[in-house]
Amino acid sequence: MNISENIKKIHEEVTNWRHELHANPELCYEENWTAEFITEKLKSFGIEVHNKIGKTGVIGVLKGSNSQEHKSNRSIGLRADMDALPIEEENDFDYKSKFLGKMHACGHDGHIAMLLGAAKILSKEKKFSGTVYFIFQPAEEGGGGGLKMINDGLFDNFPMESVWGLHNWPGLDVGEIAVHKGPVMASFDQFRVLINGVGGHAASPHHASDPIIATSGVIQSLQQIVSRKQNPLDPVVVSVTKIESGTAFNIIPQDANFIGTIRTLNPKTRSLVKEQFIDICNSTANAYGCTAKVEINEGYPVTINTSMESDIAIEVAKKVVKTKAVKDNLAPSMGAEDFAYMLEKKPGAYIWLGAGEGKSGCMLHNSKYDFNDEIIPLGISYWYNLVENQLSVES
Ligand SMILES: [Zn+2]
Ligand SMILES: [Zn+2]
Repeated sequence: MNISENIKKIHEEVTNWRHELHANPELCYEENWTAEFITEKLKSFGIEVHNKIGKTGVIGVLKGSNSQEHKSNRSIGLRADMDALPIEEENDFDYKSKFLGKMHACGHDGHIAMLLGAAKILSKEKKFSGTVYFIFQPAEEGGGGGLKMINDGLFDNFPMESVWGLHNWPGLDVGEIAVHKGPVMASFDQFRVLINGVGGHAASPHHASDPIIATSGVIQSLQQIVSRKQNPLDPVVVSVTKIESGTAFNIIPQDANFIGTIRTLNPKTRSLVKEQFIDICNSTANAYGCTAKVEINEGYPVTINTSMESDIAIEVAKKVVKTKAVKDNLAPSMGAEDFAYMLEKKPGAYIWLGAGEGKSGCMLHNSKYDFNDEIIPLGISYWYNLVENQLSVES
């Protein structure tokens, strides 16, 4: 690992910020205290701050000291997500969440702290030419804060050439960084299906159209999408996660409903799967003498790193950790990430920063998860080297 002295020097200070953030978690679009915390820090570094972009989002604008001299209008955006999760924390350390039922279980506290650490060092040195935008985004955990910031003028009012994100990644060793060339996280859509039949006495099925049998047929048939209709080399997940129907042992109910999620790693596959899904629901329900009403709500798109920027991220990662610790051939995750919206508009890359096993060996969204403070210098160093790579005074 190659961490500069000035980054090592602020490790403890940034760790303290991380703990303060951890103790004060806020959910989607409620990140008011967090936004104030960020604003106050950025201002103390002499960075221009813009608030309420995407409700509780914050943007810091830092121009390099060489901007005038080199007349550079180059610019990049570095993004950290800010929100916590509705989980009751089970940890027992002194910076445990102060609020019942809310906790930073995805490490966004660490993402904020590391980006603030990078902002502190970059603002002191200003050894770059052009503009760095520090993007603190709300509501990553299902609220689509990335999209809300874009709709609120993120890229119109703060024109940047590219956007960059990172996520702490338990399961990857500390000192490892993964960069995907192409898709890194899946799209996710939510479906709700209502199967309507004809209710009746359980003793007289021939007088009814049983929506429960129809629902079981539909759910079985939906798995054909994954096993028979899609290219096995192009991953798709169709998961039914809840079924509801019926009231008593002797009544065939009138209807049944189920919900679940569709995930893909390819935008074209995503729309094709939706068509196949609707088609199978309708035709299978009809085969059982029932009808189907299908509702599909679009969630986050596929997170896709652009080719040139993934190569840049790999190059930068190799400056931070050992060459062989930079993994560019890992399989993507079928989890979703709303940085996808930003990557739909701008070139960029989203990397996984190895977080090791964790103190209690638990994964993201676990009630005992705690961001690994050991990786703080690595995250800051990645941001610092990325700015140097993209906005070098010589360019
Ligand atoms: Zn999460
Ligand atoms: Zn997260």
